[in-house]
Amino acid sequence: MAEFDLIVIGAGPGGYVCAIRAAQLGLKVAVAEGSETLGGTCLNVGCIPSKALLHATHSLREAEENFAKMGLSVKPKVDWAGMRGYKDEVIGQNTSGIEFLFKKNKITWLKGWAEIVAAGQVRVGEETHQAKSIVIASGSEPSTLPGVEVDEKVIVTSTGALALAKIPATLAVIGAGVIGLELGSVYARLGSKVTVIEYLDTITPGMDAEIARTLQRLLKRQGIDFTLGAAVQGASVKGGKATLSYKLRKDDSEHEITADCVLVATGRRPVTAGVAAGPLGLKLTERGQIETDAGFATNIPGVYAIGDVREGPMLAHKASDEGVALAEILAGHKAAVNYDLIPSVIYTTPEVASVGKTQEALKAEGRAYKTGKFNFMGNGRAKAMFAGDGFVKILADKETDRILGCHIIGPSAGELIHEVCVAMEFGAAAEDIARTCHAHPTVSEAVREAAMACGDGPIHA
Ligand SMILES: Cc1cc2nc3c(=O)[nH]c(=O)nc-3n(C[C@H](O)[C@H](O)[C@H](O)COP(=O)(O)OP(=O)(O)OC[C@H]3O[C@@H](n4cnc5c(N)ncnc54)[C@H](O)[C@@H]3O)c2cc1C
Repeated sequence: MAEFDLIVIGAGPGGYVCAIRAAQLGLKVAVAEGSETLGGTCLNVGCIPSKALLHATHSLREAEENFAKMGLSVKPKVDWAGMRGYKDEVIGQNTSGIEFLFKKNKITWLKGWAEIVAAGQVRVGEETHQAKSIVIASGSEPSTLPGVEVDEKVIVTSTGALALAKIPATLAVIGAGVIGLELGSVYARLGSKVTVIEYLDTITPGMDAEIARTLQRLLKRQGIDFTLGAAVQGASVKGGKATLSYKLRKDDSEHEITADCVLVATGRRPVTAGVAAGPLGLKLTERGQIETDAGFATNIPGVYAIGDVREGPMLAHKASDEGVALAEILAGHKAAVNYDLIPSVIYTTPEVASVGKTQEALKAEGRAYKTGKFNFMGNGRAKAMFAGDGFVKILADKETDRILGCHIIGPSAGELIHEVCVAMEFGAAAEDIARTCHAHPTVSEAVREAAMACGDGPIHA
């Protein structure tokens, strides 16, 4: 029986990051991972492959729509097998990178599916290993709807959508959340006729309403259709095509749509089955996540949980931050995650990024705030890149000017947001960003101008 200070179950961005930090802090660490490769959902079937396909298809759109405007004549031709090959290559580079980091940090990879059989004991295959602490980082898997049976060929989850044998002529996406919009964008750019069907009356629920409306308008301009307020009733497959039935909530009228492929993007559920033996009584929340306290401890002594399997946004960087904080706690340090400042990004074109409070949340709280907004159309660099759509919106306390939230739709939004994250971590006022010199010409000048708009006003508007 091998003995470790820490055994982590699951090598996604929660688990592998936790393991590396714990090893760096001197703990003897093993990670149990049942999949063939390390990196979890994120590296294998999530963040990384989806961003590879988004990058490839964004480049395609750039070539089709903007190259000629810059005096470049190129006629791109899609080689779908080649594009999937590029995506697989990117996955391979990233997953083998984690294997390298495990070796570098002397982390043992216990290959196989793990089960906690008793406090301090983890069984992987035939062997049982001993650990002072156990971290469950078993992540999440796609969930589906009643009456919609996934076969990963015609009716697919995000996993199947990342590896379709051919580009569908028509694609119906159930769910206008981040994953549905990103993968819908990929196929729309590749020529599929994409229809997004969403139960709610808006896309991307929880996001700043003005940004959501703008994103919907811009995606529609790119050829994506939206049917909102529609409750999907079921799906059937015949002759390689799917028929999806749905009811419009406003009048209960029944409708059908036929598509070569249906992507079910209605959310993800935590993976807890088989992780802890029944008699241990691992406590779950009503939503099936592992119940933990503020220090990530479960109800079983010495057993912790991080990432998608516990509460909070299902995001890779949230999982990783929890992994770092928990490793530091287990090594005897003080650590915590600032859940108020976890940015979220949608990698569509334009990108969307936000952090902190939305206007809707501030109104609901009754908090006095001011809004500073700046359109990318007033930013020279964005215009040169044909990326003038969108804006930066900074929300600041009306009295103190302290930044409360930032919402961006526009070029490189997913990068720009971090300037505001850092400012907010330091408790900055909008004026602090407004008075910080920003290089010209950069799209980040739009962030500065939005901050200026919280005060005496931007220059270029
Ligand atoms: C298409 C798609 C795109 C996404 N894009 C983004 C994005 O752009 N940005 C972002 O922040 N997030 C994104 N996400 C979400 C992100 O992938 C997850 O939030 C993140 O992977 C969660 O990390 P985790 O470590 O908690 O779990 P996971 O990454 O799910 O990893 C869990 C690991 O545990 C292993 N495991 C489970 N049970 C056991 C067991 N009993 N024994 C051994 N191993 C086990 C699994 O095999 C898996 O490897 C995306 C997700 C999808 C599906």
